[in-house]
Amino acid sequence: MSFVIAIDGPAAAGKGTLAQALSSHFGFAYLDTGLLYRAVGAAVLAGAEPIAAARSLDPSDLNPNTLRTQAVADAASRVAAIADVRTALVEFQRSFAGRDGGAVLDGRDIGTVICPDADVKLFVTASAQTRADRRFAELTAKGVKTDLAAILAEVRARDDRDQNRAEAPLIAAADAILIDTTDMTAAQALAEAITIVTAKRA
Ligand code: C5P
Repeated sequence: MSFVIAIDGPAAAGKGTLAQALSSHFGFAYLDTGLLYRAVGAAVLAGAEPIAAARSLDPSDLNPNTLRTQAVADAASRVAAIADVRTALVEFQRSFAGRDGGAVLDGRDIGTVICPDADVKLFVTASAQTRADRRFAELTAKGVKTDLAAILAEVRARDDRDQNRAEAPLIAAADAILIDTTDMTAAQALAEAITIVTAKRA
């Protein structure tokens, strides 16, 4: 039996943490779809042509450790605006979602384009300042020297690009449930999401 949880929202809103925790709680598979766009972005930074890179993407290219840089995030949000890049990545995401045993996918267009019939759709967001503060704390904890104002500007630039592109812009599906994590801990967001999913599965 398949059961699909679609999680969308802007950068650094806590989607990944929530999606991962939900997938372990319910024993579902998890796909961070941002990694697909990041892998294409990284290939473009290395000189590839975006559409060809998307068409030849291999799951072994999805290494979070090398793809989590700011430069790759920025390149990802640029290639993500190209319609043929998005089309090339649809089938992989849908077949992941259709697997037996349940799946959690997080991204920007999962509830609207990739899995419009998902069993549960969550739209996870937080204020831009809160998201920048969290990213800053994360990087500082890792020993990366960084600048809060620059992170906030980058978060806003990526929001703007993701929300205003013509292809699959970042928007909550009409039937998505909003979780605003601005004043929530990760544990509170998880508890709320578990309640929503459990009610739906009952
Ligand atoms: O989620 P993450 O920050 O890794 O995503 C990187 C970029 O990939 C986003 O800013 C967005 O432009 C793009 N993306 C997308 N659709 C998705 C997932 C990510 O357009 N489903």
